[in-house]
Amino acid sequence: MIARLRPKFGLEEFIAAWKGTKGEQDIITFEEEFASLLQVKHAISFPYGRTGLILLLKALDLENQEIICPAYTCVVVPHAIVYSGNEPIFVDSQELDFNMNLDLAEKAINENTGAIIATSIFGYPVDLEKIKKIRERYPHLKIIQDCAHSFAAEWKGNPVYKAGDAAIFGLNISKLMSSIFGGMVTTDDDILAERLRHLRASYIKVPTKMKEWQRRLYITATYPSFYPPIYSFINRLERSGLLDRLTKYYQDGSIDMPSDYLIGMSGVEANVGRVQVKKYRDIIMHRRAMAEYYNQSLRGVDALQLPLLEEGATYSHYVIRVKNREKVMSFMLRKGIQLGQLIEYCIPEMEAYKNRQGNRYNYTVASTMAKETINLPLWVGRGQANRCISKLKDYFRR
Ligand SMILES: *Cc1c(COP(=O)(O)O)cnc(C)c1O
Repeated sequence: MIARLRPKFGLEEFIAAWKGTKGEQDIITFEEEFASLLQVKHAISFPYGRTGLILLLKALDLENQEIICPAYTCVVVPHAIVYSGNEPIFVDSQELDFNMNLDLAEKAINENTGAIIATSIFGYPVDLEKIKKIRERYPHLKIIQDCAHSFAAEWKGNPVYKAGDAAIFGLNISKLMSSIFGGMVTTDDDILAERLRHLRASYIKVPTKMKEWQRRLYITATYPSFYPPIYSFINRLERSGLLDRLTKYYQDGSIDMPSDYLIGMSGVEANVGRVQVKKYRDIIMHRRAMAEYYNQSLRGVDALQLPLLEEGATYSHYVIRVKNREKVMSFMLRKGIQLGQLIEYCIPEMEAYKNRQGNRYNYTVASTMAKETINLPLWVGRGQANRCISKLKDYFRR
């Protein structure tokens, strides 16, 4: 079976996970290498991207404020806003690139607005010209770039993660690069970095040896689990709902955090992350090439809405839109190809958020995207991509 995602973990990551750790020194080295990859002054690691966001909002002195974020983003983002003592205000998306509509975001600004979380969803860079205008009109407003899907995506040659007060990154195994779990906040602002490190020291517990062993076992389990026959078996278990408690990262009705969200990144994770930093450029080049290949090959299938190819995009996902998602996905699964349906919700419509203050606008675009998006595997080579392409064409030819 072809899995919808697969981390680029090889022998080097395995060895890195199992070698001895040097405690804090591993973390510092990973942070330095991450910062140097992105050419930023500070990279500060956290157990999850969402933990980084909670403490970043605190470090920016935001409390009881409205934080503008996309209606169509990962649900852990508003969860983090709520945990930080602020209120997420949702804004609809734009058709073209799945990103938040920044004109609507600007209209949502009022005297209680503390920050905008600009998100480059699926790796599509946010429009930095619009961000710049918003900053000029509202100089007190904080801009946070959520780069969990985009990493070093560039808008007209300018890195998105530098266009704001700070940027957040997610490093779990579904991201462009991974340290098993983990998250990072980057900034060029020395004072902000100092405050954030200080907050981290007081809120985040030092990881135990136990956490290191858990992470070693987890990464070891990912190797066979992405091996096709085993993956098929796991996929069947997943669909039966038996694994929900282990694999589902959200519940429609609750705003919560994982139990270890305040336990620091372990040295094992940092060492795996260091290997991935070296692979980053190759990973992105491969994904760009595959996105282009899919677009060329699927052109002409009328029932598919193909994604935009954009200079500077990094393609965390290759996202097509169809009207009958469930049918397409189950047909493909019968042919041995698992497709993804990320992001399959519009947050203000979710049980946990529909009655909150942040649900105050119209979310037609996000709501439709949530029902229509499918993503094709980008980790694959040409051979497997060809299988996906020909099965998709079969489906739409019937
Ligand atoms: C993954 C992700 C994050 C952070 O996720 P963590 O699981 O907390 O590391 C933030 N924003 C978006 C859009 C994401 O996809």
